[in-house]
Parts: sequence; structure tokens; C-alpha cells
Amino acid sequence: MSTVGVPPVAANLAGCAEPPVETRVLHERGQREVFCGLAGIVWLHRKIQDAFFLVVGSRTCAHLLQSAAGVMIFAEPRFATAILQDRDLAGLADCNEELDRVVSELLARRSDIGTLFLVGSCPSEVIKLDLETAAERLSALHDGRVRILAYTGSGIETTFTQGEDTCLTALAAEMPVLPTGQRSLLVLGSLPDVVEDQFARLFAELGIAPVHFLPPRRASDLPPVGEGTLLLAAQPFVGDTVAALQERGAKLIKSVYPFGIEGTRAWLGAAAHAWGIGAEHVAAVIAAPVARAERGLARYREQLAGKRITFLPDSQLEIPLGRFLARECGMQLVEVGVPYLDRRLLSDELALLPSGLRLSEGQDLELQLDRLRDDRPDLTVCGLGLANPLEAEGLSTKWSIELVFTPVHGFDQAPDLAELFARPLNRRQRLAL
Ligand code: SF4
Repeated sequence: MSTVGVPPVAANLAGCAEPPVETRVLHERGQREVFCGLAGIVWLHRKIQDAFFLVVGSRTCAHLLQSAAGVMIFAEPRFATAILQDRDLAGLADCNEELDRVVSELLARRSDIGTLFLVGSCPSEVIKLDLETAAERLSALHDGRVRILAYTGSGIETTFTQGEDTCLTALAAEMPVLPTGQRSLLVLGSLPDVVEDQFARLFAELGIAPVHFLPPRRASDLPPVGEGTLLLAAQPFVGDTVAALQERGAKLIKSVYPFGIEGTRAWLGAAAHAWGIGAEHVAAVIAAPVARAERGLARYREQLAGKRITFLPDSQLEIPLGRFLARECGMQLVEVGVPYLDRRLLSDELALLPSGLRLSEGQDLELQLDRLRDDRPDLTVCGLGLANPLEAEGLSTKWSIELVFTPVHGFDQAPDLAELFARPLNRRQRLAL
């Protein structure tokens, strides 16, 4: 993987030596408790406004989508499930014929669809339904009127944020070529529009242009990619997308992630450094938002300092969020669990974790719960399925999926991010009074 080597830009990052993480990672394999990649449709369909997501799956997949995304009553939803029936699963029906019929009916009814994603699931993978070939066939059938792409949201061996990574990888193959001699910055990972707008303004003030975001707000506006593209990951779960774009000549800017003041400063600084912009100009541009964020963060730091927190593996955001909570809020990390440790995208973050931390990769649920019960941290960040049983055992919890839905990146969101962790602690305190 080619990267743009960037030395630590922010003064407060300088001098951080990488701890001997290798020796301290607890690797686990066993029963896991995570959502599947279909969950990504919940935020992707809001972000990419001309896209439709057609899951090819079972009734379970349909239920998951409807309960996670809610049922829209007044608007036509931009996601649906083509349910594989028993006859399909038993190989008695031609699934491709059925799929062609469902897609034709959908496109006849919905002229607003610019890009249609066929989303694979566990059932479609088990019966080896080749959705990529189906997407090519359907694109030809509909004469290029609609771009039809396929990606997998299956829960086999994946966690829920990987659905976004596979979706963006499918889009990466469609991106136009950046002309030779031009350069651009490409920010990877979906961000709420309000956060994207803030970052776009900061990049403009820094003098970095053009800046594109993947995913874009409209799939018909796919940004270009080529030798002059610098990649800046805003989310730590876009490893396959990065690899696909590097195949097309793009270079990755190494950085931590824009969570908290320190992370956002370093992230913008890394982009500026790669663009050839000096640290003094960066400091001047970010001075006002940094001061605002510091004022907002102060009250939450008081509430969070000294509190013990455990992350169970779920979203892939655990390491950057743990770094933010430890270094900027004074929390004590008891255990940080990640579904998988992607060192390509997390090496700068690993270097900032406190020494002696228990870092675990993968999951063996019962063993992890045993450790949690021994540790009894003040707060546990976990998936929805574990939160209620743990609350019943007297442990305060935070849903990790909420951290993906909520605007939490950037300077202006740093106090909101801290507040998300302070809220369950305050609730527990009030209940105890
Ligand atoms: S894709 Fe797999 S894990 Fe996800 S809802 Fe469907 S069957 Fe369940």
C-alpha cells in the first residue's frame, strides 16, 4: 500500500513513540455479537440522495432493515428487500429471472433512481447468487439509463461498518479518471452533510482545492481519481476502498481521525502538510474553532475524568474514540475491543494509545463478558443486543451504532462527542440518588 509519509504536524503529537502493541493485542475468535453490513444502508441511503438499495436477502434481512432504518410513511423509501423464497433457496426457481423482474418493476415505478445497488446478504451468498454479473446484465438490459452496481452487506465474518466499505469500493471502480498533472484531495467515509460543509470550509480557508468527498451526495457526481489524488480517510473502516483507489494511482495521507480537538487538528494538519501548506497557516485557520471546542469540552472533561470505560468490538471506531476519551477527556481505558485491527489505517492512532492498555481484536463473547464483569467499568460501549442485558446487571452502556449515526467529527462536534459518553453516566447517577 503506498502512503504519503507525513511526520506528526501538530505540536502535541510530536514525540509520541509507538508502544509495543504487537505484544499486547489479545486475539480472540468465537461467538460474535455484531450487526451485519446491511446496517450501513441506514446512513448511506440518506447520504447518497439519488441511490436506491435493493437487498437480495431473506425476511430476516428485511426486518433488520425496517427496524434499523424505520418505516417511512410519507416518503417513498430508497431501500427495499427482494426476498428470496424457499423455492429460491432450494434451487427450484431461477433467482436471476426473479431478480430481473423485480428490478424492471422497480425502475418502471421509480424514475428518480440514478444508481441502483444490488446488496448481497448471507442467504444470497450461501446460494452463490452472483450479483456482480446480475448488475452487469441488468445495466445492459436497461440500456445504461441507471447505473447498477453490486456489493455485499452480508454478516458472515464482517461487522456493520464494513457494508459502507464494500459500497464505496463498488463506487471506486466507477469513478472517472483525474487528468494527468492535476491534483485533488479525496475525503473517504460518509459524513453528515453539516460536518462535510464545515470541513469543506476549513479546506478552502487552508487553500486546499479541489476537495471531493466519497460517498458524494449524488452518485451521479462521482469524483475523479488518479495519480494526483491524495486520500484522507475520515473513517477508520474504509480499508478496501483505500486499496481500490490506490490501485488507481491515489496516495493515502497517513493520519489519525478527526475526533476531538487533537484528532481534527492532526487530520487537517496532515492534509495541509501533504499539500505543501505550512503549520503556521494551519494554526491561524483553526484557531477560532479550536478555542470554541476547548470551551465546550471543558465541562464534559470534568464529568468524564477518571471514569473507566470498556469498548466491546462493534463499529471499528473504538480505537480513535478511545484515544479521544483518554487524552482529551481524562478517561481510563479498561479494554478497547475492535472487530479487526487494520494497521494500515490505524498505525498513527495506535501510537497515541496509553501504554499498558488491554487491546483486543475479534471476539469470544463469553470470555469478553467474563472480563467485563470482573472489570465493572463505569461505562461500556457495545452493540444494541448487549446493552439491555448489561444494564440489567447494573452496568451503564452506550450504543456504539449511535456514534456512527450522530455528527461527531470535527472541532464543533467535539463537545457533542464527549456529551454522548457523559449522558449515560449522568443518567446512572440520577437513578442512584
Ligand atoms: S445479511 Fe445475514 S446477518 Fe444480515 S440480516 Fe441478513 S441474514 Fe442476518
